[in-house]
Amino acid sequence: MRILIVACSVGVSLAAAALAQSPLQACATFDIDQIGAERLGQTKSELGQWLELGDVLFACGPTPDLLAASAPRLRLWRSVDPSEIFLVRAAHPGNAAWPEGVAVLARSGPHAVVHAATAEAQDRLGQGQWHAHLNGDDGCQRSIVSPYSRSLVLARQSANSRRRGTTTFGLAAAAAAGAVDAQRWFADVETLASWNRYTHGSQIDDASAWLEAQFSGLGLPVTTPTFSVSGTIANNVIATWTGVTRPNDWYLVGAHYDSTSQNPGSSAPGAEDNASGCAGVLELARVLVPRQPEATIIFVCYSGEEQGLHGSEAHAGAIVTAGDASKLQNIVTMDMIGYTGDADLDVLLETAAAFNSTLDVFEDAAAAFTSLRTVRSLNPFGSDHMPFLNRGLPALLTIENDWDSYPGYHSTTDLPANLSQAMGGGILQMNAAVLAEQAGAGTASGDLLFADGFEDGTTTSWN
Ligand SMILES: [Zn+2]
Repeated sequence: MRILIVACSVGVSLAAAALAQSPLQACATFDIDQIGAERLGQTKSELGQWLELGDVLFACGPTPDLLAASAPRLRLWRSVDPSEIFLVRAAHPGNAAWPEGVAVLARSGPHAVVHAATAEAQDRLGQGQWHAHLNGDDGCQRSIVSPYSRSLVLARQSANSRRRGTTTFGLAAAAAAGAVDAQRWFADVETLASWNRYTHGSQIDDASAWLEAQFSGLGLPVTTPTFSVSGTIANNVIATWTGVTRPNDWYLVGAHYDSTSQNPGSSAPGAEDNASGCAGVLELARVLVPRQPEATIIFVCYSGEEQGLHGSEAHAGAIVTAGDASKLQNIVTMDMIGYTGDADLDVLLETAAAFNSTLDVFEDAAAAFTSLRTVRSLNPFGSDHMPFLNRGLPALLTIENDWDSYPGYHSTTDLPANLSQAMGGGILQMNAAVLAEQAGAGTASGDLLFADGFEDGTTTSWN
């Protein structure tokens, strides 16, 4: 899943920066869903300094101001000085063992807002010793700690952006979304999870061979380029649909198929992380190939992700070296798409700020064809979209938004039974509609296409 490798430069002593206790100061969280998109701007100006974390707004300031704020308040912490508040970005804050004296006040994705009142607690936080080497990771996971010093949007729910859906999807996009078979996807997750797909393990080659056979079965040419991961020869599985009329317009859909756990030498089923994503690539191939897209679509499952994004790094590098980077129109990656901790089917759309607008069509597809709730993040990290973004290429990650509290994360208990077909199927329908629309997919035999006006009953004909 997500890994974050940074130089552990947080060794600086934070203590010197803080210690101005003030009983008149407080911090609070407010419910953004109840505030609503229209009033969000006004609420923020009322609060002065704030952090937007998806469905929560965090703010600190004079206690009377927070008490007087018109916005519906969730929690209030009295006698907290804003200088004791720190922003922590960690690979997996949901599983972090926070140091003594540090309290988590709000969290969203990789970000946590914490209160460290004493110099000792701030030192412990600053030293970063508390970050955990999560199960079986060869990649070290450190954290970034910074003072809460300015207003930031860390994650934004699409419902709160003023943008109104503008994409008009064609019939083929609707048909592609409708053709996604969540049961078939889940069966592939079970198949992949039956192998220990640890990059350094012995069974990953069986999974690779199976993937190759599935893609070849769709009539696609398949390659398995190799690369080394600390001496282990690993390989990606790449299947290419060459576009009918726009062969030089490339769309890439990718996900890693390797897995890990706290004991990867003996078991690493990796159902959610990331059989769910790789089986998703396969399901999108099954849906899109029969619709003969005008443009080229590259379907790829990467290896070596858990050890440092090795597979996607090798692929992105090879495309650039071959001089094909400009052909890439859009790169959709999937990492953990099947888990949900509650009835809220929320999906995170993540890319770099430069490509923020590329998320619009995904939001619109989710609204048009699924019951997903979308959240945006422009703080990308830690998965297969990064090697492309780092090369200035338009890539995004679609990931279920409960990933940071998934109990089976990097564990031998990451099993198919934890997954939801509604969650995985929804993300695949969104991606199928967007890829069908952008790559110019046609319709396939058996597609039941709604004639305009069917939804509102003004026509009863099928095309
Ligand atoms: Zn993963």
